[in-house]
Order: sequence, then structure tokens, then C-alpha cells
Amino acid sequence: MAKEELECSFCGRKKPETSLLIAGLDAHICDRCIEQAHGIVIEESKEEDSNDLSAEMMLKKPQKIKAFLDQYIIGQEYTKKVMSVAVYNHYKRLLQPATTDDIEIQKSNIIMVGQTGTGKTLMAKTIAKMLNVPLAIVDATVLTEAGYVGEDVESILTRLLQAADYSLEKAEKGIVFIDEIDKIARKSDNPSITRDVSGEGVQQALLKLLEGTVVNVPPKGGRKHPDQKFIEVNTENILFIAGGAFDGIDRVISKRLNMQAVGYSASIKEDVVDHDNLLQYIIPKDLKDFGLIPEIIGRLPVLTYMDPLDGKTLRAILTEPKNAIIKQYKKLFKMDDIELSITDGALDFIVTKAIEYKLGARGLRSLCEEILTDAMFELPGGDIRKLNVTKAYTEQKLSKTTIKKLKAVS
Ligand code: ADP
Repeated sequence: MAKEELECSFCGRKKPETSLLIAGLDAHICDRCIEQAHGIVIEESKEEDSNDLSAEMMLKKPQKIKAFLDQYIIGQEYTKKVMSVAVYNHYKRLLQPATTDDIEIQKSNIIMVGQTGTGKTLMAKTIAKMLNVPLAIVDATVLTEAGYVGEDVESILTRLLQAADYSLEKAEKGIVFIDEIDKIARKSDNPSITRDVSGEGVQQALLKLLEGTVVNVPPKGGRKHPDQKFIEVNTENILFIAGGAFDGIDRVISKRLNMQAVGYSASIKEDVVDHDNLLQYIIPKDLKDFGLIPEIIGRLPVLTYMDPLDGKTLRAILTEPKNAIIKQYKKLFKMDDIELSITDGALDFIVTKAIEYKLGARGLRSLCEEILTDAMFELPGGDIRKLNVTKAYTEQKLSKTTIKKLKAVS
């Protein structure tokens, strides 16, 4: 190209029309376009700053995180504390400047052990809500090794991408909650007899994900869309929280404690062991004895447990959390201009039934639904402006058969 024909590759101005024309490899840019581009860069980075989750997170110290969890989750003090520290450290790790020393902070993936309905999912959801990061909840039981019927492990990341509205940047800082991790425990102590499609193989497949790797993820998931382009997701900064009931692990713990008691460390006296809540003594070795492979346990370094829910806790769950069940019903009635009140006697009665029929925290909601359905059907549009739910009203609505029905579905 002759010199006098030079022009800006962006706006097309000829060289004489510009004050400055800078040459690149095979393009030119004029002073005006540079200024404009600079403006765009500044605007974009402002936007990024306001989206910058990490900066926001850094402001929340562990005690603040726990205070937030307290608003939604009753009890579970130990787990709330452990989670607060783990989440804080996780995001500190994200913010660590390029290493100048050799100390690399490793991921603080978490594993929660506790009966179903004790708030494990709630814990993960609340953390995600607080951090304003996407959360994918996946069930480990549907996962299988690649090539078998079921979902590949990568499908976890498809879910996370979906939860992040396909923003890769957000997904890569998200949280994955893997429920029922205990169900992929190795079934037998001898791993080599048969291939254990849903057990050890899945644990192996999960390993890389937990540790941090780049995975080719089909954005629409699975095998139904074979032509889709893969998205590369880096799991390095994704926080994994695993949860499971680990039915029967109390026996493993008890056995270990008994052995310790008769062994040389007889200082752990039998009488200080709280047999109603053996999970509090859990150590990583118990997970191994249950059937998780050591590598998985190693990649879920933060181990915590959920306390069983007693009557007092169930009672508090009904009314105290920020979005407590009773508060939700009050709001529903209020929308029809009806004031709902519920007596202490009625609340205690609901809790007694939840315990008697072993319905747990999940049952509280179904019980309330049974009690209030008639009123929610009949009152809207009528003249009644107040509903006072007493123990007698509750008893009348909750016949034995209705509770049995609830038990069958819970
Ligand atoms: P899990 O994941 O352990 O099976 P969930 O988190 O799904 O249990 O809890 C079941 C229900 O019980 C949820 O609706 C949750 O709101 C309520 N719940 C359970 N534990 C608590 C708790 N400690 N505080 C407040 N609500 C709870």
C-alpha cells in the first residue's frame, strides 16, 4: 500500500485526517479510535469491578459469614463455624496474588455428614445466596462412569453453567453441592472383583474435578445434543461441598471409639461419649472405612457433621429463620388481607407429631400444609379477616390417617 493511502483500520479515516496513526502488524489505528477504545476499556473494567465477587467477599470475615448463616439455619453451630472459615479461606485463596513464595493455598472443599433433613442442602444454598455465586445441586446417585447409563460426571458442570446463565466467569467461581456422596461408596472391600459402575469408578472420575482441572463441558448436557460445542471449564476455583447421610457410619465410629477405649488411649472414657450423637466424633478414617477412597477424602479436607434435630430445634425452625415456614404462611394469608396467628400450643403440637412420626424438619412443612389447606381454600375472597390456629384446630385437622399419609411420602 502506498504511504499516502494509509488509513485507520477501525474508522477508515485517511492518515492526513488524523493527528496520529499507529501501525500494528497488519492494521492501523488513529488517535480518536484509541481514545474511544480506551473509554470502552474503562467502562468494561468498571462493570467487572462491580461484578467482582471476590472483592465483595473479602469484606466478609468468618464471623460475619456465620452471622449470615445464623439468620437462616438453626443450631448446627459447629458446621456453621467450620463452613464460615472454609468459605473465607476459599475466597482468600482466590485473591492470593501471583505467588512470590512457594506456599500455595489449597482448596478447602467440604464434606458434611448428617442425617437427611438436617440442613445440609440449606447450608450450601445459604452460602451461595450470601456470596451471590451460582450453585448447582447434584445427586451423586445419578452419576456413573463415562460410557455407562446415567450422567457423566461432567454433567455437574453443565448444571453449574446453567445456574450461572452460561457465564463462564461466574460458573468458575461457583459452588457445587454434591448430595448423597455416601451412595457412591465402594460396596465391598475388595475393589477388583467386579467393576463397580456407580461406586468407585465415579469417585475416581470426581477426583480430578474436585482437585482443579480443565474439563470439556457440553453446555446443554449429556448425549442428546452430540453436535454442541464444548465449553472449557476450569474447576480450580469452584468450591465443592459434598453431603451425605452415611447411614451406619455411627457403628464405624462407635467401634473405633470402643477400640480406643480398651487400647492404650483409655483416657477417652466411655462415659464421656455422647452416644446419641456419635457423628461429632467423626474423623476421615471413618469415611474410608465406610467406603470412600482415600484420594476423595483427601480432596474434601474439611470434614464436618450435622447434629440430629431435637424438639427444641424443630420448634425454632418453625418460627425463627428469616424465611421460617410460619412466616411464609403469614405472608401468604396477608396477601389475602387475612391475619394468621398460631398459638404456642399449636406449634408444640406440630413439633410433637413431627417427632412422633419421625418426619424431621421436612415434615414440618407438610404438617403445616395439611393444617392450613382448608383455610387457604375457604378464606380467600370471604369476609373473615383473622385466623387463629390453636392446638384444638391443629388436632382436628391432623387426624392419624393424614399423618400416616405424610409419613408414607416423606
Ligand atoms: P438435607 O440436605 O440435610 O437432607 P435440607 O437442607 O434439605 O436437608 O433440609 C430440609 C428442610 O428442613 C429444608 O426445608 C430446611 O429449610 C429445613 N431445615 C433443616 N434443618 C434446618 C435448620 N437447622 N435450620 C433451619 N431449617 C432447617
